[in-house]
Amino acid sequence: LAQGYLERAQASDLNAYIDIQPELTLAQAAEADKRLAAGNAAPLTGIPIAHKDIFVTRGWRSTAGSRMLENYVSPFDASVVEAFQAAGMVTLGKLNCDEFAMGSSNENSYFGPAKNPWDTSAVPGGSSGGSAVAIAAGLAPAATATDTGGSIRQPAAFCGVTGIKPTYGRVSRYGMIAFASSLDQGGPIARTAEDCALLLNAMAGFDPRDSTSVERDREDYTRDLEKDLKGLRIGVPKEYFGPGLSADVEAAIRAALTEYEKLGATLVEISLPKTELSIPVYYVIAPAEASSNLSRFDGVRYGHRAAQYTDLADMYRKTRSEGFGEEVKRRILVGAYVLSHGYYDAYYLQAQKIRRLIADDFRQAFTQCDVIMGPVAPTVAWDLGAKADDPVANYLADIFTLGASLAGLPGMSIPCGFGQGEKNGKRPVGLQLIGNYFGEAKLLNIAHQYQ
Ligand code: GLN
Repeated sequence: LAQGYLERAQASDLNAYIDIQPELTLAQAAEADKRLAAGNAAPLTGIPIAHKDIFVTRGWRSTAGSRMLENYVSPFDASVVEAFQAAGMVTLGKLNCDEFAMGSSNENSYFGPAKNPWDTSAVPGGSSGGSAVAIAAGLAPAATATDTGGSIRQPAAFCGVTGIKPTYGRVSRYGMIAFASSLDQGGPIARTAEDCALLLNAMAGFDPRDSTSVERDREDYTRDLEKDLKGLRIGVPKEYFGPGLSADVEAAIRAALTEYEKLGATLVEISLPKTELSIPVYYVIAPAEASSNLSRFDGVRYGHRAAQYTDLADMYRKTRSEGFGEEVKRRILVGAYVLSHGYYDAYYLQAQKIRRLIADDFRQAFTQCDVIMGPVAPTVAWDLGAKADDPVANYLADIFTLGASLAGLPGMSIPCGFGQGEKNGKRPVGLQLIGNYFGEAKLLNIAHQYQ
C-alpha cells in the first residue's frame, strides 16, 4: 500500500508534497507488516498517512512552507505524528501549505501552490492545500491538517474531500509549528467522515506537553456513525446566506439541507449577528499571536541565517527579510502594531472582547439547534493568481469559517456537489457543519448519514 501511494505521489505534478523520503516510508511499512504478521495490529496499522508540513517530523524536513525552515529537520516528532506512528500508520511524506499556515489558497507557500486536481487552473484552498489535494487526487488515503481560521475546512471544500477541525484543545499542538496559539487546532482530512473518525481516534487526546490540551477521557469517534437523524434540529444562520454568497454555492447548500430534511432533520433559522465582525477580529488576534510566535525565527537557534551581516541586529534584519514571505511579514507588522503601547486597547483588547461576543452568539444559537449548517466559503475555488495580489480579498473569503475558530467550536466540511469555475466548469462545494463543544462524534454521525 505504501509503495503504491509513494509511486503515485512521486509521479504527480500537483505539487502536493514538499518532502518524500521513500526509504523511511518503506522502513515504517516493513515494521507495520511485522506487526500485522505478529497479530498485534491496531485498526490503522499499515495505512499510509501524509502530514501537513506544519507538524514537525524526525527524518523528513519540517518547512512550514517557508524559506526560513527550507532545510530544517526537527530532532523530535509532533505528538500527532507520534500518535499515528504508535498506531502503526506509515508516514508518506510532508504536504504543501501556505507559509506558517497563513493563507487561503496555498499561494503563500515558498514552494509554490499545490494544484486543485478538479481543475488545475484553480487554487486548492489553504492553508492545508497539499493535504486536500493529496486526498482528492489519491496521493494519500489520509492526511493531517491544521485549522486556525478555516484551513482544514476550506481546502477540503475546494477539493471535494472531508475534513474536521475538532474543538480547540482536543488535539495536541505540541510539535505543530505555531501560528496563532489560541486558535490553532489539528485535525484530519480524508475521503469520508468514517475515515476522519478513525483518524481522530488516534489523533485526539490529552497531552501534558500542550498547556491548552483538554483533559478529558478518550472517545471512540466512530460510536455514533450509524445513528439516524430523526428529530435533529439544524440551525441555518441567516447571516451565512447574504448577498456575498454565490448562487451556485447557495444552490448546492440548499439541496444538501433538503437531503437532511429527508433524513428526518428539521431546519431552524438562527442568527449569528456578529458574523461580519469575525473578519476584523480574527485579523487582529491571529497576527498579534503570530508576531509573538514568529519572533523565535531569529537566525540564531535554527533555520535560515543570512550569509553576510555586520552585527547582531543586522543579522536579525537580513535573516528575517530573506526568510519570510510577503504575507508573513505583513502579519508580523500588523501584529506588532496592534500589540504596541497606545494601540493595544483600541485594537487587541477590543478584538478580544468581540471574540467573546462571537462565542456568545454560538452559545445562544445552540439553545435552538443541535448543529449549524451553511457554506464553508462564499464561492467555489477561484483561479490561481486571481486574488494573489489582494490580501483583503483573501481575508473576506474566510467569513464563514472564522466564527467557529474564534469560538473554539468543532467544524467540518463535507462535499455537497459542484458549482461553476470561472473558466473550466465544475468545482466542488463544501457544506459546513458546526457542532457544540466536544460534539465531534455527533458531527461525524451527521456527516456520515449524508455520505
Ligand atoms: N485563511 C486564514 C488565514 O489566512 C486561515 C488560515 C488557517 O486556518 N491556518 O489566516
